[in-house]
Amino acid sequence: MAINRSEYERTLAIAETALSRIKALRLAANPRNFEIWYTYAVGGNEELNKTINETLRKEENITEHELGQIYQQYLSTAHLSEQTDEIGSRISGEIERVMSTIDLAIGSANMYSESLAGAANISEEQLADRDQMRAVISSLVSATKEAQDANLALQANLVESRKEIRELQKNLDEVRAEALTDPLTTLSNRKSFQDSITRMMNDAEKKGIPFSVVLTDIDHFKKFNDAYGHLTGDQVLRLVALALKDNLKGQDVAARYGGEEFAILLPKTTLAAAEIVANHIRTSVMSKELLRRSTKESLGRVTISLGVATWREGDTVPTLLERADSCLYGAKRAGRNCVVSETALDQKVA
Ligand code: GH3
Ligand code: MG
Ligand code: MG
Repeated sequence: MAINRSEYERTLAIAETALSRIKALRLAANPRNFEIWYTYAVGGNEELNKTINETLRKEENITEHELGQIYQQYLSTAHLSEQTDEIGSRISGEIERVMSTIDLAIGSANMYSESLAGAANISEEQLADRDQMRAVISSLVSATKEAQDANLALQANLVESRKEIRELQKNLDEVRAEALTDPLTTLSNRKSFQDSITRMMNDAEKKGIPFSVVLTDIDHFKKFNDAYGHLTGDQVLRLVALALKDNLKGQDVAARYGGEEFAILLPKTTLAAAEIVANHIRTSVMSKELLRRSTKESLGRVTISLGVATWREGDTVPTLLERADSCLYGAKRAGRNCVVSETALDQKVA
């Protein structure tokens, strides 16, 4: 059905405003940016407008990276909470339906039991009378038939509800997984990383299961973005994510920790073993030649620096991450494209 004329004109005007913003700021005219500027033009998402206005006031421009963060913060999560709301209200509806089915079932079971109780109270004289017997039997038959019908309806209702609840459960699992995933790389996001490291910290303290942490950051990534553009930069983030996935196993967790920073959690892994994994990831990233998708032109290679730390008695999440971060900083200072672990750092300090 076509929308009415005023709605058509209103949405078209908003779309034109959004596009003119994209042109004026010379941004990529991709769906993500269009959604951001369309939302901005509508003006209903106050926080989004405030953040954009502040950025424009400070810098007179807005980078693709900043837009990526704005999208993550105000739009990708908004759509997730809308989905959760919808699933929530469908679950409430389904519960109502199951409750009224149960009420109906109780009602019909009561009626049937009253009919049976009535039949059990028949006197000797009534039993001897053929017509009275016939009436009793016929009322029992019809009560049984009614109870059977009610049972069938109940079954059908419950089968339908079970199907619907299964589907809702699947949707909920998907939304939950999406809320913990970084959309660009499909690695765990920072929230999920925080949950995992807290869990591993508990396991280390309570069950004595040790673990190690690797933090990594792309070398000279700013230069790469400046030379080839932010969208090609995003491709590099996917490539690094792939190198992480290729080198991890089982319970290991790989997360996008920040813009171009990644974090890896390695349970039951000593510092020395974690250092080996970190080096595998490093060589795996530098071995991949980057090709521009459209022209297949070679864009060279990127390298990463890595810092490795391992859990110690008495650590908190921040103390452990700070040590890994100092090692990463050490790797940058040592000339990049290398792994520095906390023992190496200790030896240097000593
Ligand atoms: P260093 O070797 O010292 O790490 O140099 P660098 O240029 O990588 O360091 P810095 O942390 O100063 O720069 C990070 C740059 O990463 C800034 C920005 O251009 C880029 N960046 C951050 N997040 C994203 C993202 O989501 N996508 C893209 N394409 N680039 C990003
Ligand atoms: Mg960085
Ligand atoms: Mg960097």
